[in-house]
Amino acid sequence: MSEAEATINVVDYDNIQKSVELELGETPLGWSGIVTELFEHIKVRSDELGIEYPKVLQIKEKFGELRIYFSKVSEDERIRGWVAATINRANQSCEQCGNAARPQNLGSWIMTLCCWCAHEEAARRFNEHKRRYFRRTDAPEHLVCAVCGYVGHIDRSDDRRRCPSCVKKGW
Ligand SMILES: [Zn+2]
Ligand SMILES: [Zn+2]
Repeated sequence: MSEAEATINVVDYDNIQKSVELELGETPLGWSGIVTELFEHIKVRSDELGIEYPKVLQIKEKFGELRIYFSKVSEDERIRGWVAATINRANQSCEQCGNAARPQNLGSWIMTLCCWCAHEEAARRFNEHKRRYFRRTDAPEHLVCAVCGYVGHIDRSDDRRRCPSCVKKGW
């Protein structure tokens, strides 16, 4: 390990929420909230065991998945289990609001977003005339919105197989 790696720690255990938000953005109902909760548990557990707080090199999203890089794996099995469970949970939750979600392919970006947040994000990135927001994936057709291409949340009462966001917009 280099000297730089030995000293990097992006999580300030005296201000967990702020330091997590610096890494993931301010999404208290979404990923930053989920990860803040994880490190609060880790802090309590480490205090109980009298072990050092684990040092974190980086927390980020990559290809729509949450990544947490520690400078070394925790020796405590429970902490390791919480980390794995948190990543698992985040990867099925909207990054921004925590709703159930799947990764969405927005051209060159992949993000895990619910249909509402995905539409907001797409509207920011694409021009106002674009409706086919999300790229084709290998998801089964019945899970894909016929208009915008969102994967995973289809309004079951809609005979045109649209996501709730497209139904609401009348697309
Ligand atoms: Zn959302
Ligand atoms: Zn849609």
